[in-house]
Amino acid sequence: MKVAQIENNNLVIKDRENETLNGRKGALVKVLGCGLCGSDIVKLKQHISKEGTVLGHEIVAQIIDINSDTNFKNGDVIVTSHHIPCGKCEYCKNGNVSMCRHFKETNIRPGGFSELVFVSEEHLQNVAYIKPENLSDDEAAFYEPLGCCIRAVKRANLKQNSTTLVIGLGSIGILMAQALRSFGMKVIGCDLISSRVELLHSFGIEAFNVNEMCESINVDCVFMTSGSDKALQTALKYVRDGGKILVFSSTPLNSGYGNNEIYYRELTVLGSYSPSPADLKDSYELLKNKEVKVKGLSTQYPLQQVQKAINDTLENKILKAYIKVNA
Ligand SMILES: [Zn+2]
Ligand SMILES: [Zn+2]
Repeated sequence: MKVAQIENNNLVIKDRENETLNGRKGALVKVLGCGLCGSDIVKLKQHISKEGTVLGHEIVAQIIDINSDTNFKNGDVIVTSHHIPCGKCEYCKNGNVSMCRHFKETNIRPGGFSELVFVSEEHLQNVAYIKPENLSDDEAAFYEPLGCCIRAVKRANLKQNSTTLVIGLGSIGILMAQALRSFGMKVIGCDLISSRVELLHSFGIEAFNVNEMCESINVDCVFMTSGSDKALQTALKYVRDGGKILVFSSTPLNSGYGNNEIYYRELTVLGSYSPSPADLKDSYELLKNKEVKVKGLSTQYPLQQVQKAINDTLENKILKAYIKVNA
């Protein structure tokens, strides 16, 4: 099978021995495609993942061999995410499921940018769903990223009709804004790139260029999908006193929020990372009902061009890459 693996800071196509069930419970799937996540790029560029790692976790895949107690069967096309909480540890009990050690260890093997992938029984039972018929493969691949956004919305724990500002209108910002709207919040978005501002407008959500925002905007919660210095300044400028900043992006090293702003203005700054099975279920329903629309957001690349997809994403040439693995 062909995989894209990390070699010298790049993703390189290699042949590997086929993944098989090999007596394990779970499913062997043929990956139809896999979304390229911002976290994949961070893992590659900041040398977080080892040489030989196969990245990718936003898969749409067809079951070709199965040994499972679930109702899934050969031929089913599924979506799944990669991590599953244990439900028993202190992190899980306190609602921080994405900090659960079992959560961090579980994965689809070897990774989404591979022709064949092993999906464990635990995945099938907790986070896998049949792909809805009314969604194309690239649309269904938003299942996991939208789950991340839904988690962020829930973590912010806002009252209905709260005012929110989404900073950064890449694919995550566009999903976040729609997720906020579906949870009953008032939403505006902002970005420095005009085409992205217009894109959010086309989804019926107010959006502005950061440089043209009204000074009087004062929101209950800011959602940071960008960690640039400009984004941080923008967040502190438009959050109301006593408001919240939901962090959903890494920042360059030595960058961050000023202590005194948090102290004197009684701000709450909180992070949100990866989705729980419940968040993923909500994501599945919102995509299926088209309450969150993702048509046309991604650009398709064959597996052989995954490195180009990364470069195009970094250069803001595209909003989101969907890697077609098996045509
Ligand atoms: Zn992701
Ligand atoms: Zn746990």
